[in-house]
Amino acid sequence: MATFLLSAIKTLAAQLLDFALPPRCAGCAEIIDEVDGFCAECWLTLDWLGTGGCDRCGLPLEATDAALCGRCLAAPPPLDRMRAAVAYGPLSRVIALKLKYGRKIALARTMARYMAPLLGPASDAILVPVPLHRRRLWWRGFNQSGLVAKQLGARWEMPVDQHLLRRIRPTPPLKGMNEAQRRRAVSGAFVTVEGRQIEGRTVILIDDVLTTGSTAAACAKALRKVGAGRVELISWARVVRPSRLMR
Ligand SMILES: [Zn+2]
Ligand SMILES: [Zn+2]
Repeated sequence: MATFLLSAIKTLAAQLLDFALPPRCAGCAEIIDEVDGFCAECWLTLDWLGTGGCDRCGLPLEATDAALCGRCLAAPPPLDRMRAAVAYGPLSRVIALKLKYGRKIALARTMARYMAPLLGPASDAILVPVPLHRRRLWWRGFNQSGLVAKQLGARWEMPVDQHLLRRIRPTPPLKGMNEAQRRRAVSGAFVTVEGRQIEGRTVILIDDVLTTGSTAAACAKALRKVGAGRVELISWARVVRPSRLMR
């Protein structure tokens, strides 16, 4: 309980401070003109992914007018649409870490600002953050993806369901695992709570960082089990092989 209270006080103090001070770049803290943005130099170091690319996975399509990439054609991924604001790189990583471990709550607004243009045509959708296990939530005091989902819900005027998905067991760090190991590590880790009407509806998962998509796939599976129509994902950053980035 004390952790929650302390975290709430810190959040409030940070918000008050935010309000009183001039806007600063989310990357280097230089004073800038508008809130929740980046200075020109930091902006240029970020690889913005945009809404183009493969209809389904969002990865850049190499010199082709096809709607889907070869990988999605060969084996349709469990998510109907995946988009991320930026490629995972030095600065986008720092932004994600500062929100998660540094309690820089205002960064959830910055992330949401740049994730907002990535919304697809679905208008009846509900936003659902990728959940943390309750033990981690208790230690951290907040779910970083939940904060971003809240900001996006406000921007898009869409419902946010912070508790639709539950992570029923803690999952090990997936770093260094191959695809099959990752799948196994998160398999069955997510369930939906009872009593929600999501039959046929579109669910948009909100996450901070998308790596291989195995966590998102496990979430999608749990959502499909209770009848979700489409399952999409919008994240702040995404791991993209440098060779796939168009510069
Ligand atoms: Zn900067
Ligand atoms: Zn694709």
